[in-house]
Amino acid sequence: MNKIALIFTGGTIAMKVSSKQQGAVLGLSPDEIVDTLHTLTDFEHLVPHAFADLPSPSITPVRMVALKQVIDSYLKDSEFAGAVIIHGTDTLEETAFFLDVVSTSPKPVVLTGAMKNASEIGYDGMTNLISSIRVVMESHSHGKGVLVVMNYAINAACEVMKTHTLNLDTFKSLDFGPLGIIDDEDVIYFRNQTQRKDYRLRPAISPDVFLIKCYAGLDGRLIDFLVDTGAKGLVLEALGRGNVPPDMMPAITRACHQGIPVVIVSRSPGGRVLDTYGYPGGGKDLIRVGCMLGGSLSGPKARILLMLALGNGFDREGIRHLF
Ligand code: ASP
Repeated sequence: MNKIALIFTGGTIAMKVSSKQQGAVLGLSPDEIVDTLHTLTDFEHLVPHAFADLPSPSITPVRMVALKQVIDSYLKDSEFAGAVIIHGTDTLEETAFFLDVVSTSPKPVVLTGAMKNASEIGYDGMTNLISSIRVVMESHSHGKGVLVVMNYAINAACEVMKTHTLNLDTFKSLDFGPLGIIDDEDVIYFRNQTQRKDYRLRPAISPDVFLIKCYAGLDGRLIDFLVDTGAKGLVLEALGRGNVPPDMMPAITRACHQGIPVVIVSRSPGGRVLDTYGYPGGGKDLIRVGCMLGGSLSGPKARILLMLALGNGFDREGIRHLF
């Protein structure tokens, strides 16, 4: 059991600057990346798989479902220790969380990428790839759920988010800190996940689940539009502790009364939502009309979970329990 699947989806790690397009575009093949890796390390038994060649804004939940099937085909093979998924950083946390929620194997699955493309000084692709392979090879990585490895840090898919548009040290678990680090050849874990739930949902998704960010003065027109055009579920990135502008309440109430699950999370990057406030549009109002609270999940992750919950046929009570 010593083979490691390297599953390539694209992203900056596989990009170079093209003078023709005057910007970073995909240009490094999986074989070129693995060849470079072999010149830098003595890793053996790496099995590259070209799943896609996409910048991560082009990764969709439908592609995540297909990716899950490819990963499973390797994990169920007893010769494989685990898998590294090479991914653009923009939507990496969504794919990582999706894979975590549908994960059934204790074998390590690590997502990684790069913040600098291969034409830039300080390209971090190789470092991140080498760190990720070390994490898969480490026996303590078993049963920890899907992991994200970037810039020498190991974070849990359920906790991590991209926090900076440029810094190499962008993936952080703001409330909890990293699970561990990669220091030279050592993989060192500091703690276990505090937030991870063993969801084990089937990789079945419902389309038409939307995310709306709330802001001062927002009214209900966006929600009305989505409800009238067939939304199956809504996630609201509410303000602070989980409150919305009062002018949104009639549309939220209508959505709930039509049986559309409405999940409340916060636009604040840290902390849980809770029904602390009793004023119009406050958490108590939202619960009273039938909204559900999404804990400390970010908006994009709550949307992924709601798509999966609906795809798995959960009813309202089931969804409430899940969140
Ligand atoms: N925009 C790029 C992408 O997500 C950024 C990256 O790969 O880091 O594909």
